[in-house]
Amino acid sequence: MRGPRTVGHEFAGTVVAIGRSVRNVVAGEYVSAESHVTCGACYHCRTGRAHMCEYTQILGVDRDGAFAQYVAVPESVIWKNDRTKLPPEIATLQEPFGNAVFAVSHEDIPGKTVAVLGCGPIGLFTIGIARASGAARVLASDRMPFRLDLARKMGAHDVLDVTTVDDVPAWFAEHNEGEHPDVVFEMSGAPAAIVDAFRLVRNGGRVILFGIPALPVELDVADLLIFKNLTVSAVNGREIFGTWYKTRWLLEHGVVDLRPLVTAELGLSEFEHAFALLESGEACKVVLRPSGTPAEPLVATPAEAADTDSQLDHLAKWAHR
Ligand SMILES: [Zn+2]
Repeated sequence: MRGPRTVGHEFAGTVVAIGRSVRNVVAGEYVSAESHVTCGACYHCRTGRAHMCEYTQILGVDRDGAFAQYVAVPESVIWKNDRTKLPPEIATLQEPFGNAVFAVSHEDIPGKTVAVLGCGPIGLFTIGIARASGAARVLASDRMPFRLDLARKMGAHDVLDVTTVDDVPAWFAEHNEGEHPDVVFEMSGAPAAIVDAFRLVRNGGRVILFGIPALPVELDVADLLIFKNLTVSAVNGREIFGTWYKTRWLLEHGVVDLRPLVTAELGLSEFEHAFALLESGEACKVVLRPSGTPAEPLVATPAEAADTDSQLDHLAKWAHR
């Protein structure tokens, strides 16, 4: 990532201005956005697999993001929310929650034992979705007690602090009537956990890799994959926009309740405190709210949007002063 850059890619807010060529979004609408801005023209985009687009720009990484009073995004990534069903602190979680929805969609869950390694936000979402999907048993591991408490709140039947045992795979079998789990979600990216994911899954099971390791990881491919007849899914992003429809349904109907995962709501100017909370390990999601008075919608309909491109430029400058 090259700076200076406004970071932040998970948000909900009200449209205050639209560009000249916008046709399906109007000022005043309550929206979130897919954070992956895809090209719309490549092979993947044109065959329904935009999440694999090689020309993806990520909000807050490749272009300015949402830790600001205003953010400008293309119409193509806008996702409309229902104010009466999703409050901002939950609507803003649709983007990361969608990662977990997409990860879980890679395996049939009903009746299966699921292991979730790593209880950061996406791991915790995964636990809730696995329970809602009819998993027979959900076992979760992490190294931080705060996160393991949340894992229980999200529906994990049993949780493991990996710093307390020598043999992680043995613990999972012991807590699953002697059998190894059917499905393992590796959500931590920790090299030891990635190796454990392959060690603890049953023969013929599935490992879903989502956590991103910082460095290459060494695996015994023969013993841990081939001889076990494993199926491995490597997952990134969300299906655009298939995942969003599933996500909305799960959240609007309270099938998965994310409220226990919102540790704090702070003003945007308190961002340093928010990051300190996250670094302390005693927070899951912290919602930042811009403290300024929301601008009145500048345009009401696409027909009135003639001058909005310059208004958007103005807002962007104002927001990043
Ligand atoms: Zn593309």
